[in-house]
Amino acid sequence: MESFPPDDLRLHWSTVDPATVKTTCATCEKEGQLEVWQELVQGRVVWRENFRCECGHAYDAGDEGPPPPAVRQAILEKQGTYETWLDDLSGRQAAVKVMTSMLQVKEAEAAFRVVKLPARVFSGTQVEAQFIADTLKRLGAKQGVRVEQRPAQPKKK
Ligand SMILES: [Zn+2]
Repeated sequence: MESFPPDDLRLHWSTVDPATVKTTCATCEKEGQLEVWQELVQGRVVWRENFRCECGHAYDAGDEGPPPPAVRQAILEKQGTYETWLDDLSGRQAAVKVMTSMLQVKEAEAAFRVVKLPARVFSGTQVEAQFIADTLKRLGAKQGVRVEQRPAQPKKK
């Protein structure tokens, strides 16, 4: 099997601060932690998981596209939620296109969301929000695209 990601990407990826998901080693059944994160690789969102156990069992996995829900949740808890905002008219059509084609928002709803600017186009992980911002620019938003961390909500007691 080919290694994922390719070796020339490992240096870059090793700078990422991963989130963790509790898991059990498939070989020795000891509790362990899966390291998980997302990255933009050649303009695509990929997620990745990495497991190492003292017994020697180890694996790396990952794929393009949205990660499994538990992985995504762990990343959101570690990093917080990020939002992609549009401030400028030049990106209005791009925003509608992104919302309808990539985010399963109905056309009328998407158009309504960008009537008033600034408009929030997306919220999710940091890497996803950056990907949406890059896509908006690629589709014609000339300026006024930004990614911001959503202010942390006070924890419920
Ligand atoms: Zn083990």
